Amino acid sequence: MPALDSNIEYLKGVGPQRADALRTELGIFTVRDLLFHLPFRYVDRTRFHSIRDLHTEGETVQIRGILRRLETLGDGRARRLVGSLRDDTGLIELVWFQGIQWLEKSLHVGKDYIVFGRINEFNGRLNITHPEMEESSPEVLGAKPRTLEPVYPSTEKLTRKGLDAKGIRKLTRGLLDSLTPADLPETLPDIVMDKFRLVPRWTAVSKIHFPENQGDLDTATRRLKFEELFYLQLRLLQLRTRRKEALRGFVFGKIGDFFNNFYHHKLPFDLTGAQKRVLKEIRNDLAAGKQMNRLVQGDVGSGKTVVALMTMLMAADNGFQSCMMAPTEILAQQHYENIKLLADDLGLSTGYLSGSVKGKKREAILKQLVSGDMHIVIGTHALIEPWVQFQNLGLSIIDEQHRFGVEQRAKLWQKNPAGPPHVLVMTATPIPRTLAMTLYGDLDISVIDELPPGRKPISTIHRTEHHRLQVQGFMRDEIAKGRQVYVVYPMIEETETLDLQNLMAGYEALSRDFPAPQFQISVVHGKMKPADKDFEMQRFVRGETQIMVATTVIEVGVNVPNASVMVIENAERFGLSQLHQLRGRVGRGAEQSFCLLLTSFKMSSESKERIQTMVRTNDGFEIAEVDLKLRGPGNMEGTQQSGMLRFMIANLAQDGLILAAARDTAVEILEQDPDLSTPENQRLKMHLASEGKEAKVWSRIS
Ligand code: ADP
Ligand code: MG
Repeated sequence: MPALDSNIEYLKGVGPQRADALRTELGIFTVRDLLFHLPFRYVDRTRFHSIRDLHTEGETVQIRGILRRLETLGDGRARRLVGSLRDDTGLIELVWFQGIQWLEKSLHVGKDYIVFGRINEFNGRLNITHPEMEESSPEVLGAKPRTLEPVYPSTEKLTRKGLDAKGIRKLTRGLLDSLTPADLPETLPDIVMDKFRLVPRWTAVSKIHFPENQGDLDTATRRLKFEELFYLQLRLLQLRTRRKEALRGFVFGKIGDFFNNFYHHKLPFDLTGAQKRVLKEIRNDLAAGKQMNRLVQGDVGSGKTVVALMTMLMAADNGFQSCMMAPTEILAQQHYENIKLLADDLGLSTGYLSGSVKGKKREAILKQLVSGDMHIVIGTHALIEPWVQFQNLGLSIIDEQHRFGVEQRAKLWQKNPAGPPHVLVMTATPIPRTLAMTLYGDLDISVIDELPPGRKPISTIHRTEHHRLQVQGFMRDEIAKGRQVYVVYPMIEETETLDLQNLMAGYEALSRDFPAPQFQISVVHGKMKPADKDFEMQRFVRGETQIMVATTVIEVGVNVPNASVMVIENAERFGLSQLHQLRGRVGRGAEQSFCLLLTSFKMSSESKERIQTMVRTNDGFEIAEVDLKLRGPGNMEGTQQSGMLRFMIANLAQDGLILAAARDTAVEILEQDPDLSTPENQRLKMHLASEGKEAKVWSRIS
C-alpha cells in the first residue's frame, strides 16, 4: 500500500496516463486526494423495484426478473440488441447499441437477472438503455449485501481512460481495502466525539464511500462535515487570538471634544438601542489595548454610517487619522460628501481619494495625509496602494459588499509603522450567520438589528408586464403628490448592448407618457461619462426631475428622501440582495414608499421564490437566508472568488447547526487551551501541523 501522501500514479490500477488525467481533470495528485474525492450521490442497491411501479423517466432503478427475449434488430447505426425482462408485475424492454456481439454470447434467455440502469422513455414506452446485467442466483443475492452504491464525479476525458464513476469506484474500493484504521488516525478529541456522538474518522471515511444503509451514510456525513467546519473555525479563531496577542493596538483612551460635541450638539436624532450597543462594543475594543478587527452587520438603512463616523471621531479625539474605503467610486463619493459636511462643522479636515483623483489634487492630499493635516480620508481601493502614507493612521473602515479578502484587509495594517490601525468592516446588506462566521470568522461581529424609529415599511408589489398601464397610473399619482420615482433596468456585461437598448427604449416610452415640460426625466447608466452621470444624478437629487431611469449604478448611489417609488423592470433578472439594496433606495423619507417588481408572466420557480420573498418581507437577514438557500454559498454576491467557501463536504446553506456547534466547540477549546498544549488536544495540534504542511486550506485563507 502506498502512503497516503504518495503520488496517485503509484496506486494500483492507476499508472502514469490515468494519473495525468486525474491531476488535470479532478485535481487529484495524491492517494489522499483520491480518498477525499467523495461521491456526489448514491444509488440505492438495497431494494428492488417492481416493473409495474416504474414510471419516472431518468430514475435509476434496480429490478429483478427473467430475461424473456433477446434479439438483434435494425442495421447500421440503428443496429441494436433488444431484450425483455419480466418480473411478477410486468415487462420492460432492455436496449443496447454497443457491445452487441459480446452481450449476445453472455446473456441467456430464460435466466434470472438483476438489472440496473436508468429509465428512458422512447415512443411513449419505457425502456432501460445499456443496463448493467448480473446473473441472479441465490448465491449472488446472499453473498454480497446490496448497499448504497457511490457515484463519483468524473469527466469525459477520464471516462475515456476507464475512469468513469464506476472506474473511480473500483479504485477507491481497492484503496480502502488496502488501508487500515491506523492509516487514518483520529483528528478530534474524544471529548468532542462523545459530546456530538461522532463516529471515528476511519469509520466515517470508509462509510462515506461505501455505506451499507442510509444510517451509515448520515453518521459518516455528519462526522466529516463537523470535522471540516471545526478545523476551519479553529484556524480562523486561532488567527484571531494570535493577532490579538501579538498585535498591540493603539489605545483610544478618551472620549473627547469631537465626539462629545457631535453627540450632544450635532447629531440630529437619537441613536437606536442597537447603534448604542454597537458603539459600546467598538469603544470597548478601542480602549482595550488590542487591535480591533470588527464586523458591523446591519440592514439597509439601519444607520451604519453614523456609527462609522462616530468611530472616526473617537480616533480624532485621540490624535489619530482615519480612512474609510468603499467598493465603488459612487459610494465612496457619497460617503465623502455626507461625512465632510459633518466633519467640517466639527473642525476636522476630510479628503477624497480614488484612482480618478490625479495630479496636483492627489499630491496635495497625499501631502496632508503624511503631515497629519488631514484627519479623515475617504476613497476606493486606491487607499490600500503603497503610495498612500499617513502620519498616524489609527482606524480603517471598510464599507463593502463582502468584497475584500483577509489579505486585502491585512494590507491596511501596514499603513502605520507604529502598529496596525484598528479595523472596522461594514457590510452593505446582511449576510447569513453561517457565511459571516466563515468569511469573517477571524473578526468579532456586531449586529445592528434595529431600524431607526418611524420608518414606514416599504410596501412591495409584484406586477407582470400586462399591468404596465396600471403601474404608469400609479407613478403619475405619486408624482402628482410631489414624489419622485426610480425606474431601474437590469444591465449585465454579457447582454450589455441589448440591455442598454431596453433601457433607452424604456426611457423613450416614459418620455412620451410623461412629456416635458411638465415632467422631467433623468437617465443614468454605466456607459455614460462620469460628468454626465453626475449631472443627471444631481438633477434628480435637487428635485428637478421626477423620474430617474437607471441601471443598478444607483444601487449604492444616491440618497433622495423624497423618492418614494422604486419600479424594477425585469425584476426576475436581479439577485435577491440586489433587489433588497435597490428597494432600500426608497423609504428614506417620511412618506409611505413602494417597490414595484415588474416581471414577465412566465418565471422560473427560483425567480418566483425570489419575488415572493421580496413581497413577503423587508427583513434583510431573512432575505439573505433565502438567497443562500437558493444560490448556494459560492454564488452569492461578492463571494464567488472566495476560496474559503469551497468545501469538501460541508454546505453552508444547510449546515448552520453543525457550523454553530463546531464554532462553539472551537471557541471553548481555545479559551481553555490557546496553544493546544494539553494532552487531550494533541490530536488537534498534530492535525493542524500536518495540514499546514499540505497548506491547502490555509493557502486559501492567508
Ligand atoms: P446604512 O446602514 O444603510 O448605511 P445609513 O447609515 O445610510 O444606513 O442611514 C440611513 C438613514 O437613516 C440616513 O439618512 C441616516 O441619517 C438615518 N439615521 C441613521 N440613524 C438614525 C437614527 N438613530 N434615527 C433616525 N435616523 C437615523
Ligand atoms: Mg451605508
